[in-house]
Amino acid sequence: MAKIRRLAPQQPGMFRAEVARTERVTPSVHRVTVTGPDLSEFSWQGYDHWFRLFFPLPHQQRLHLPEFTGSRWWPPYLAMPEEVRPHCANYTVADFRPEAAEMDIDFVVHHGPTGELAGRAAIWACGARPGDALAVLDQGLLFDCPPDASEVLVVADETGLPATTGIVRSLPRETVGRIIQEVPTADDRRDLDAPAGVCVTWVVREDPTAVPGSAALGELLRHAPADETGYAFVVGESTLATEGRRHLRRAGLPKERITFSGFWRHEEHQAA
Ligand SMILES: Cc1cc2nc3c(=O)[nH]c(=O)nc-3n(C[C@H](O)[C@H](O)[C@H](O)COP(=O)(O)OP(=O)(O)OC[C@H]3O[C@@H](n4cnc5c(N)ncnc54)[C@H](O)[C@@H]3O)c2cc1C
Repeated sequence: MAKIRRLAPQQPGMFRAEVARTERVTPSVHRVTVTGPDLSEFSWQGYDHWFRLFFPLPHQQRLHLPEFTGSRWWPPYLAMPEEVRPHCANYTVADFRPEAAEMDIDFVVHHGPTGELAGRAAIWACGARPGDALAVLDQGLLFDCPPDASEVLVVADETGLPATTGIVRSLPRETVGRIIQEVPTADDRRDLDAPAGVCVTWVVREDPTAVPGSAALGELLRHAPADETGYAFVVGESTLATEGRRHLRRAGLPKERITFSGFWRHEEHQAA
């Protein structure tokens, strides 16, 4: 493995790494496994632990990172000249093996209006080769279940599948609840290590032109929380997140018991 320069300590939470290998795990998910000495200090918390991924764009010779102190990385990032500013996108730790300092990142492979591979991060992942440079800026968890929650509800499109996988595996084994997980094809389903009391509903998109997240939202609209002391985590395309939250609020779940996040936004031309 090429020697990876360790980062100066004033960039807290930033880990340089390189691609170790890649694999198409299901029709819509391309896994990139990354490694490097910095990652031996990554403190994986399970659940939906997420991070900002930085990688060079095709016209850039090498990976330059913003210089910052504290947590204010965004202004220095924006101030970087475009010729050297890396791409930045948000991803979830799909798996982490501390003994090997290896992290798996699962990228949804998505396509543009004429069927071409789309998305700078997805294109990067599909073309990634061993030794390619990247960096990970640790962001922690969004999942924030109160300890007294009577049940846990997780609703996601395919971009939230790594989060769902991590959450169900991290939940206390006595947890009760429900998972509503949308995937583009039946072969994108995977085994989930869910507690026995958590019911898993896979929603396979029947219409390939449907907006991702709309089928999961349809299933969520047919779901009523058992009472007002549950907790819900709703992530994926922004309409799933916002309309999902609206439904749960109307059904009586207090706002502090709902985590919702628009992981990405559908653009109209994509449906053409
Ligand atoms: C906390 C968090 C965790 C996330 N974890 C993951 C993860 O583990 N795996 C993952 O795949 N995504 C994850 N996402 C979503 C991911 O950040 C977005 O999908 C992002 O837009 C992908 O970047 P890109 O560079 O490929 O596409 P961009 O260059 O940002 O977008 C290009 C075009 O693609 C469209 N697009 C983006 N994503 C999709 C999609 N999935 N399906 C269809 N069209 C799309 C956009 O609308 C845009 O038109 C996460 C997001 C957040 C906020």
